[in-house]
Amino acid sequence: MKLNIHDRFSKELPADPNKQNTRRQVQKACFSYVTPKQPSKPSLVHANLDLAQQLGIVKEDLQSQDFLNVFSGVTTLEKSRPYAMNYGGHQFGHWAGQLGDGRAINLAEIKHKEHHLAIQLKGAGETPYSRSADGLAVLRSSIREYLCAEAMHHLGVPTTRSLSIIKSGDQVMRDMMYDGNAAYETGAIVCRVSPSFIRFGNFQLLAFRQDIGTLKKLTDFTIKHHFKGIEAGTKQAYIDFFREVSMRTLGMIMHWQRVGFVHGVMNTDNMSILGLTIDYGPYGWLEGFDPSWTPNTTDKQHKRYRYGNQAQIALWNLLQLANALYPLVNDAKAFEDVLNEFGPNHKLQYESMMRDKLGLHMAQENDMILFNQLNKTLVKTETDMTIFYRLLAEIKKDDHPSLMLNAINLAFYEEDLDDEVKQAWLDWFGNYKNRLLQESLTDLERKKLMHAVNPKYVLRNYMAQLAIDDAEKGDYTLVTQFYEMLKHPYDEQAEYNQWFAKRPEWARHRIGCSMLSCSS
Ligand code: AMP
Ligand code: MG
Repeated sequence: MKLNIHDRFSKELPADPNKQNTRRQVQKACFSYVTPKQPSKPSLVHANLDLAQQLGIVKEDLQSQDFLNVFSGVTTLEKSRPYAMNYGGHQFGHWAGQLGDGRAINLAEIKHKEHHLAIQLKGAGETPYSRSADGLAVLRSSIREYLCAEAMHHLGVPTTRSLSIIKSGDQVMRDMMYDGNAAYETGAIVCRVSPSFIRFGNFQLLAFRQDIGTLKKLTDFTIKHHFKGIEAGTKQAYIDFFREVSMRTLGMIMHWQRVGFVHGVMNTDNMSILGLTIDYGPYGWLEGFDPSWTPNTTDKQHKRYRYGNQAQIALWNLLQLANALYPLVNDAKAFEDVLNEFGPNHKLQYESMMRDKLGLHMAQENDMILFNQLNKTLVKTETDMTIFYRLLAEIKKDDHPSLMLNAINLAFYEEDLDDEVKQAWLDWFGNYKNRLLQESLTDLERKKLMHAVNPKYVLRNYMAQLAIDDAEKGDYTLVTQFYEMLKHPYDEQAEYNQWFAKRPEWARHRIGCSMLSCSS
């Protein structure tokens, strides 16, 4: 296996001079060199050929000992030195100080054709940032990250990606629900890939420590390599950079809202500066549409990171980033102006997203009324979001509202609607029908548009759990099947119809399906 190494982060930014792998506060440095832990008996669970090819890795390499060794941490790449990044963050609204890559180890950056990508192992052992934890990851959370990042990519959602998942051969102790029932679980290592793994928290930590010199270096580095349209070197460049980060972040959130994804832990250390979905932990997919839903049991009380609050939280996180960048500009108004654009942009993008989801071409003044009425009706009875939008594309605009309602009936978890709910739906369909009749699109044209934004297949919470249950027994058939199916989430793929189905009742309260903790 030949990789064209072209490191920039570790070559251009200040390193921690201390080479010991001891837990500590790391000052005036963007990263610390660290060596991955030797896994006892690595074995491949799955590898991603499409992504491998972007790195210049060929099909034969995937089954090689070399591949297994490099992506499980047995051997390090000759021309590079692995390192862990230094960052801080706000966790659940509170400043948490230095966090850093506690169990992520960056191997190298690879340049191949038009791609320049960083590769990083998650779960490859402790680093100076591991604090009180072990630096490891379990198979269950690794499968969730591996499959979901790829599913998101193919849904068109900006995200980090997954190259490989390898069992380490080691056992890892975890208290899955934080209830005193710790047990050994199978250890695993995911290799993830991204143009950069820099987070809001990288900037925040430097600003908090008033290390403005390093903050400037990191910001200039980020602009130079990742925001090519911005000319570095002026104060305006930092504002333009911040505006671009805001736009990308908002764009990412709108995609999450469109597909029904709830990240679960939108702490500022989990916010990519590139606006990519990063750190798949206790995330979940809306099954029953419910803006107040979060899968994360750690957030059960306040539901800070619930589905319907994700845009607000993105804005709050951007405010923290603005505070961190402020010393480079010393002009609060410039940042405020950008932050003030977020709300109006959000409204515009939300309306546009909803029009797409509903197959509406022209913007109309009363659109928000139609959307709000829909959202209210969707929660009157438990309604599967994915199935609803997919089936909605099947209706004919000349149909009577009651026929339209029949067409989506399968989306209801309780298919016998009471009269009030039924009437609410008939009212909404009446309004939707009127709106459709003013559009020039044919039923078929509308269906095509809707199918392009409303996926048929997502990684439902219970599906990931089924894949995990089998993988724990050494059977990776479902991992492979879901990986393949989720490459084409908008296509009919009739052979996978069984996965176009509501969550089964047994999964409603099963841990891992509807409830997840941060333990991973
Ligand atoms: P997360 O909630 O997964 O985003 O993690 C927050 C912080 O805890 C980050 O600095 C992680 O690197 C660190 N962390 C999470 N799990 C572990 C672990 N098992 N070992 C070491 N550090 C961890
Ligand atoms: Mg994290």
